[in-house]
Amino acid sequence: MSHRLVVVGAGYAGLLAAKRLARKLRHSDVTVTLVNASDRFVERVRLHQLAAGQRWAAPSLRQQLSGTPVQLVVARVTAIDTTGRTVCTDGAPGAIGYDTLVYALGSRARLDEVPGAAEHAYTVADLEQAARLRYRIAEIASAGTVAVVGGGLTGLETASELAESYPGLRVRLFTGADDVGSGLAPRARAHLRRALERLGVSVHPKTVVATVREDGLDTRDGTSYDADAVVWTTGFRAPELARAAGFATDESGRMIVDTTLRSVSHPEVYAVGDAAAAVSVSGAPSRMSCQSALPMGRGVADVLAARLAGREPGPVRIGYAFTNISLGRRDGVVQFTHADDRPRRFVLTGRAAAVFKEAVVRSTVGSGPRGDAGSDGSGS
Ligand SMILES: Cc1cc2nc3c(=O)[nH]c(=O)nc-3n(C[C@H](O)[C@H](O)[C@H](O)COP(=O)(O)OP(=O)(O)OC[C@H]3O[C@@H](n4cnc5c(N)ncnc54)[C@H](O)[C@@H]3O)c2cc1C
Repeated sequence: MSHRLVVVGAGYAGLLAAKRLARKLRHSDVTVTLVNASDRFVERVRLHQLAAGQRWAAPSLRQQLSGTPVQLVVARVTAIDTTGRTVCTDGAPGAIGYDTLVYALGSRARLDEVPGAAEHAYTVADLEQAARLRYRIAEIASAGTVAVVGGGLTGLETASELAESYPGLRVRLFTGADDVGSGLAPRARAHLRRALERLGVSVHPKTVVATVREDGLDTRDGTSYDADAVVWTTGFRAPELARAAGFATDESGRMIVDTTLRSVSHPEVYAVGDAAAAVSVSGAPSRMSCQSALPMGRGVADVLAARLAGREPGPVRIGYAFTNISLGRRDGVVQFTHADDRPRRFVLTGRAAAVFKEAVVRSTVGSGPRGDAGSDGSGS
């Protein structure tokens, strides 16, 4: 019987892993099956653009996989049975057996941090959520107020994109930090501040949001702000599936893996991308980003090809080169970093940074040949 290799999740990490595995194992007795909730490759790094009313082509996964022997199953994974070595799905086929599993289900918004966020806040963490926000923003664009909570990269990109696309929209950005862009070099931080000011985004530093309401939010110091939409961008956590299945996970639900991306609790299972807590070159856990997901997708394919051929692979290197922030379509900041993610002095700003970021986004796995359908989040 052939060896059944199943990859769950066709984002940046899972799609790259499946394609590379199929290429490396094409002359072997291994079948590669890729399971994903949708038949499209969702470029998550563009979801703030979707929320701001832009359209882009969402590549078809079948097109991405054409010419490869990868079998695509479009279904939502509901559970993993580690005893029976089976992935359970909500629709057909219902159950998919595996000999080796690659877990690549990405991440979602942290909506359980304060009361009211899960009920009332919008997010840009997945296609459905970003599409919901897009429709709400279209309703309030001419004179409404949007409150973006979180001063990290997603919050900065979302606030800037909305402000640039809709000059009539009042955009407030709330962060518990002293300033925006902590961790960036001073020149990058100064550019961020100037760009937000130019776009008319009001920044509320040192302001911790305590509650989200249907019509606004309350801060920990007792101040209330009205808003027609609250967007929650304080960070991501991995799906509950890994923890529920009994894998060793960290506090964010990420599967803990060794330097070859193998689960420390279940040796027949590997994890990649946002859903994996791997060790980066600094020794710190991998950062949720494409810069971690892509080397992990490549790396897991190399590791498995070696192990299935009876060779012991070396460690997968997860290092960083830059932090890339878009500030609308015509501005941005690129903070170049050491491999261990510490900022270098070299920073790119303005239009050059916007062009650099767009080139990086296009070069990622899903943005090769364009897909055959437009995406406005409606599935049309
Ligand atoms: C708005 C935004 C902007 C970002 N900008 C940047 C940036 O500029 N640079 C950067 O490096 N990173 C950025 N990120 C982070 C980056 O998108 C993630 O780190 C990256 O997508 C992780 O890739 P992944 O393959 O692990 O997961 P994902 O890309 O999330 O893919 C996971 C896949 O699993 C599927 N899936 C999930 N659950 C199930 C299930 N139960 N059953 C079946 N399929 C399932 C999903 O549909 C998806 O196809 C941004 C994220 C967001 C939201």
